[in-house]
Amino acid sequence: MNFSADENVQMIRQTVKDFAEKNIRPHFMKWDESQEFPVHVFKALGELGLMGVLVPEEYGGSGLGYHEYVAAIEELAKVCGSVGLSMAAHNSLCTGHIMMFGNEEQKKRWLPKLATGEWIGAWGLTEANTGSDALRMQCVAKKDGDEWVLNGTKNWITHGISGNVAVVLARTGDLLDSHGITAFVVERGTPGFRGGKKENKLGMRASETAELIFEDCRIPDANRLGNVGDGFIQAMKILDGGRISIAALSLGIAKGAYEASVKYSKERQQFGQPIANFQAIGFKLADMATRIEAAELLTHQAANLKNKGKSVNKESAMAKYYASEVSVYCSNEAVQIFGGYGYTKDFPVEKFYRDCKLCTIGEGTSEIQKLVISRAVLKA
Ligand SMILES: Cc1cc2nc3c(=O)[nH]c(=O)nc-3n(C[C@H](O)[C@H](O)[C@H](O)COP(=O)(O)OP(=O)(O)OC[C@H]3O[C@@H](n4cnc5c(N)ncnc54)[C@H](O)[C@@H]3O)c2cc1C
Repeated sequence: MNFSADENVQMIRQTVKDFAEKNIRPHFMKWDESQEFPVHVFKALGELGLMGVLVPEEYGGSGLGYHEYVAAIEELAKVCGSVGLSMAAHNSLCTGHIMMFGNEEQKKRWLPKLATGEWIGAWGLTEANTGSDALRMQCVAKKDGDEWVLNGTKNWITHGISGNVAVVLARTGDLLDSHGITAFVVERGTPGFRGGKKENKLGMRASETAELIFEDCRIPDANRLGNVGDGFIQAMKILDGGRISIAALSLGIAKGAYEASVKYSKERQQFGQPIANFQAIGFKLADMATRIEAAELLTHQAANLKNKGKSVNKESAMAKYYASEVSVYCSNEAVQIFGGYGYTKDFPVEKFYRDCKLCTIGEGTSEIQKLVISRAVLKA
């Protein structure tokens, strides 16, 4: 099952690797320290076709599959998790939601701008008091003639300030009713809609995370995605696919930390020999390599099913859960292998160590993935 050996996948991998070495590696620490969201990088990724990897060519996208998508995110995340996260969120969440649930007119209106990187997309599900428990959301949309009036705040939204357009999930029915939520597209510049507080984060600092604020924001009914009341089910399906991208992000971070560790352990001398000669270090590398391969297989298994149009509810949760925990494991071991140097900003492993933690939280925590997996295995 070596999906990465596919010629298309290898070509994408090499293209993104070259791009990341040239355009991201020289700058990523500056962006990290200043929490700068490098918009220009995403415009350049758009020119490479990476802002619409899964979008069909007729809507301006690259029309590729999930194995290529996984490889692209991995290669970005090996260098900078923030760029990988933002690219994944743009593709899987905002763009993915419009692609999967938009009507023809909506797809023609928004996908070409998103797929080419002309516009950056945001996706708002989470609120201050409703993360894992999304059904309790307080953001409301009320129908008024041919328009909807949105009120409420979304929190932790990737590209909350810089996004040109957002897909927003809002309550249109009763609290806790899984058919009481509807999805809407809201363009930046719509009166009553603005970005709010930007979070000051532990890691993924160059990926912008901010509030979306709606105050009597009026949007036409034409901006509604799918039927009234379908939003929650749509969001869960979007997250099923999105979790493959977070598994890929996790894999990239884990591989980045592992590759840096292999190199360093061959160079660093202690007791008159490279530290790689110590079995304690070799065993760490063995554990990292084994877990990475297992995570890779789970991720490509989910990608394979998704490409075939099959349900990936359990498989993407397994891939995301396992790969994200592997990224935390590998980043932690990498800092240990680097010793004191791993604790400084002169080497990349401290950044992997900070960035990786997002992977066990975003798009559903590890605990929520275990809920999804356990429900699936108990139902079987
Ligand atoms: C950098 C970043 C980017 C993000 N981007 C977006 C975005 O673009 N769009 C968006 O909508 N959201 C986004 N999020 C939000 C993210 O999806 C949520 O943070 C995540 O779903 C967890 O919600 P929470 O933070 O409210 O934690 P909570 O739900 O409050 O969870 C707190 C703890 O309780 C545990 N817990 C909760 N419920 C249960 C349960 N039933 N059983 C067992 N344990 C449970 C959790 O696992 C966790 O350990 C982002 C978050 C971050 C940090």
